[in-house]
Amino acid sequence: MAYKYVYGFNEGNKDMRALLGGKGANLAEMTTLGIRVPYGFTVTTEACTRFFDEDRKLWDELNKEISNHIKILEEENGKTFGSTDDPLLVSVRSGAPISMPGMMDTILNLGLNDDAVIGLAKKTDNERFAYDSYRRFIQMFADVAMELNKNNFENLLTAKKNDRGVELDTDLTAEDLKELVEEYKDKYKELKGEDFPQDPRKQLDLAVAAVFRSWGNERAVLYRKLNDIDDTMGTAVNVQTMVFGNMGDTSGTGVAFSRNPATGENKLFGEFLLNAQGEDVVAGVRTPQEIHTLKNSMPEVFDEFAKTAKKLEDHYHDVQDMEFTIQEGKLFLLQTRNGKRTAQAAVEIAVNMVDEGLIDKKEAVLRINPKDLDGLLHPTFTKEELDNNEAATKGLAASPGAAVGKIAFSAKDAALRADSGESVILVREETSPEDLEGMVKAKGILTARGGMTSHAAVVARGMGKCCVSGASEIHVDEDEETLRIGKEVYGKDDTISIDGSTGAIYIGNLETQSPQLEGNFGEFMSWVDEFRDMKIRTNADTPRDVKQALEFGAEGIGLCRTEHMFFKEDRIFQVRKMILASDVKTRKQALDKILPMQEDDFYQIYSLMGERPVTVRLLDPPLHEFLPREEEAIRDLALDLSIEPARIHERIEELEEVNPMLGFRGLRLGIAYPEISRMQARAIIQAAIHCHEDGNKVIPEIMIPLSSDVKELKYVIDEVNDEIKKVFEEKNTEIKYLVGTMIEIPRAAITADEIAEITDFFSFGTNDLTQMTFGLSRDDAGKFLPLYLDKDLFEKDPFQVLDQKGVGFLIETAVEKGRAAKSDLHLGICGEHGGEPNTVKYLYNVGLDYTSCSPFRIPIAKLAAAQASIEKKDNK
Ligand code: PEP
Ligand code: MG
Repeated sequence: MAYKYVYGFNEGNKDMRALLGGKGANLAEMTTLGIRVPYGFTVTTEACTRFFDEDRKLWDELNKEISNHIKILEEENGKTFGSTDDPLLVSVRSGAPISMPGMMDTILNLGLNDDAVIGLAKKTDNERFAYDSYRRFIQMFADVAMELNKNNFENLLTAKKNDRGVELDTDLTAEDLKELVEEYKDKYKELKGEDFPQDPRKQLDLAVAAVFRSWGNERAVLYRKLNDIDDTMGTAVNVQTMVFGNMGDTSGTGVAFSRNPATGENKLFGEFLLNAQGEDVVAGVRTPQEIHTLKNSMPEVFDEFAKTAKKLEDHYHDVQDMEFTIQEGKLFLLQTRNGKRTAQAAVEIAVNMVDEGLIDKKEAVLRINPKDLDGLLHPTFTKEELDNNEAATKGLAASPGAAVGKIAFSAKDAALRADSGESVILVREETSPEDLEGMVKAKGILTARGGMTSHAAVVARGMGKCCVSGASEIHVDEDEETLRIGKEVYGKDDTISIDGSTGAIYIGNLETQSPQLEGNFGEFMSWVDEFRDMKIRTNADTPRDVKQALEFGAEGIGLCRTEHMFFKEDRIFQVRKMILASDVKTRKQALDKILPMQEDDFYQIYSLMGERPVTVRLLDPPLHEFLPREEEAIRDLALDLSIEPARIHERIEELEEVNPMLGFRGLRLGIAYPEISRMQARAIIQAAIHCHEDGNKVIPEIMIPLSSDVKELKYVIDEVNDEIKKVFEEKNTEIKYLVGTMIEIPRAAITADEIAEITDFFSFGTNDLTQMTFGLSRDDAGKFLPLYLDKDLFEKDPFQVLDQKGVGFLIETAVEKGRAAKSDLHLGICGEHGGEPNTVKYLYNVGLDYTSCSPFRIPIAKLAAAQASIEKKDNK
């Protein structure tokens, strides 16, 4: 049997999305469910792949299959392509397995030509409607399939309206539109060098090929790259009988969600336009009406739609995002898919659906993408700022969050300025897929036109980015680079603040605050905790960070970087004295001053953490980082030490290193100056004893950074243990404590068996481990790493997403060797990768006991870990 590249809507189902694309699979599913869907067929993603293999051409076998399916369509509908009585018209739409903006979207009314337009006029008894449909088709076909700028045609339309002295498209008569069609066809010929194709079958072939081609266009490729979508999947093409939403006031078209995709509220959410075709809603040219008002104009249709939405939701067990058309009072569904939603809505909906019995807790936990939680953890404006500032105007609250930045009027400018470190808000009349990069890089997005389902709104919600859309009172002049609100005009250097949760737009810089987690988030996270085995700690070194981390449910501190404490104003002076000391005695004197301060830091942190584990790392960075740079500070220090400023300059020079990251840092400091490690060990233990006296039985974990060899590590550990022994003798008490090391030098990973013999735990410092495995400086990589990403030499920045092949190999080696030497060796990670969902899942499977990340990433890491546990159990 010949290979099958085309499926009728009655031949597929929802599980065939790889082959039929999401849209095609769901159209087939709805057809089977008995929902009214205009009949059609889907050309498969495999055909798309073959199209690229065949030099971007359609081939005979495929053409035959398409012809067969057109015949079926003609028979089903009792219409024929190109008929002067009752012509068959179709829509052509792309549909990849994963919903993907950036590709060719939709062509409507395909099949119209000089004959069929007569047939359509006759059949509908509406000549004006027929010619209006034809001119729309020419414009859409030229724009979407042939990539001819639609302004060429818009200008003709505007000229015609001016010529007739009318304002609205609808004021043009059938005769006007007839003329316009001729002008459009002439324009097409002028631009394209050939006649507008009259043969419907040729139109269809060109459209199908255009959809396939659009899979490979730049925007689509960029979108796939940003979203980790497989490039080889291909897109399907859906060819569907046209229904008309523009046949008068009992017709219309709309887009709606079965629940509110911004808040999660269980209530239909969407908009529609009477007497309009699909592109009018999305383009935001006319302002649509809220879906519930359909109840007033067409109560039965509204009821049917509400029931259909519920039926689809019950069937898919998820929120549905539906497109519909009403043709003369009859409802047709044109698309359904699982609705994109904000993180807040995602959590709300998942929890509500568990309560409603639609899904279970496990499904709820699996359903939310850990990265999306980021959207929930975004800032808002403080209440005070909101009370004290009046919004300049308001748009739609399209995607929550608060964003502040200077105005950028083009995506390119936004991207450029963001790259150079500026905070910008992308302000546009409306956005289109070309704007993607600018949208990714801007802090927020503001548009003048378009509703809640406009491009800007949908894409921003997907990215978890703050967006205000459809702010109809703002006037954006993208060429002049001005934003006008009322009489006030703003430019590129002006700062605005936008609130994606209310739609308010403020002039100036409003203060933001950390997110307030409320609603069902707590309940959701409690389910996450039920499924999770891996512990989640945090990297925190101030009481403020610790409090924030505890609010997010930190189960311990995996990394407290003590050097950050050294920089506090009242102690940096002593730290500098300690570094500049020319003998042990003077150094000890300075250390004696630092000791009580460090002890107090640790005491405060332990007290906040209760009995949760706290890992404190001994001093790590190269000493020169602590020395003063400004002349005044150097003079003050010299005065205090009774030495010449020149001596300090000399010392600064002595400490200068060619490769500080590979130099005198980490445990090497403890080898040169054991008294530093001793002071820190003493502070850690004395603070812990103090807590024990309070009844808080902390078990401090002392972590030694940058070990590469068992002997050097043993030297430092011996010093630490000896000092602690002294503390115990002095205080006449003993408490339990652990000593471990960071594994961040490849040699340490390779000799992990030896290192495990003398340690209680390892924590993988994947920042340094990545740096040293790649031989890629952490500090300088920014200068050339982007090139690697641009040239596709690296798929991901290895400092953000762990390189499992190389760095992961070292981690796995260390885990294996370490545990072979000591079966109860405790293992964790504290590099930046510890909050990256894919890395967390990977490290769970490698066997780590915990991950440690910055406070704001705790919920993300928790969810990733819970999903990893579920996936592992399900795979068993
Ligand atoms: C690391 O190297 O991964 C680490 C956590 O330490 P730091 O970033 O402080 O060097
Ligand atoms: Mg490190």
